[in-house]
Amino acid sequence: MPIQPLVTFDYQRTGDTQPEPYLEEDEIENLFEQTRADLGSAIARKLAGVVCADHQQAAAVRVNLLYDRQTEQMDVSYSVEPCCQLFLQRVVQLLHRVG
Ligand SMILES: [Zn+2]
Repeated sequence: MPIQPLVTFDYQRTGDTQPEPYLEEDEIENLFEQTRADLGSAIARKLAGVVCADHQQAAAVRVNLLYDRQTEQMDVSYSVEPCCQLFLQRVVQLLHRVG
């Protein structure tokens, strides 16, 4: 069993609810859950067994999901909490291939 990355998720909603929203609040919740499941497994696949050669640390990735009720768009951003700069670059490179 390869070492698994540590992946954590943050959810946020912003903006005022539109008169006739495309997604109701509970559907936004579902979208978060779905995205979390999809991204979580995609990231785990990409980063499984990826360990810093110098510090023997697994990758730690924080995923921020931001739903804007105004534009009705979900914005995804990543932040990597690395043990060192070299490992950060490696993890970011691998993350860019997450489809
Ligand atoms: Zn390191």
